[in-house]
Amino acid sequence: MKADYCSCTDHACPFHPVNHDKGCTPCIMKNQQEREVPSCLFKMVGRSERCEGYYFEDFALSVVDAQRAAGQVDVIAAADAAKAAAEE
Ligand code: SF4
Repeated sequence: MKADYCSCTDHACPFHPVNHDKGCTPCIMKNQQEREVPSCLFKMVGRSERCEGYYFEDFALSVVDAQRAAGQVDVIAAADAAKAAAEE
């Protein structure tokens, strides 16, 4: 099946939309069961070199590392600063 919306390059994966007619559903179900994030979202953020897997924590690390690489205040630091400011 044609799946232009999917940027995952693992066409051998049985959950990839080119291998069935159920769209993203099998991929999302597999990711939910394993506490993972789909590769399409990692590709949007840019996967951190520090990632060891595709788990939620790896995605969070990728978001923070991408923000730091762009010279931005990362989401964790921003939340900590906001909390500290609210407590003053
Ligand atoms: S959720 Fe999975 S199937 Fe859907 S676009 Fe992302 S990687 Fe492809």
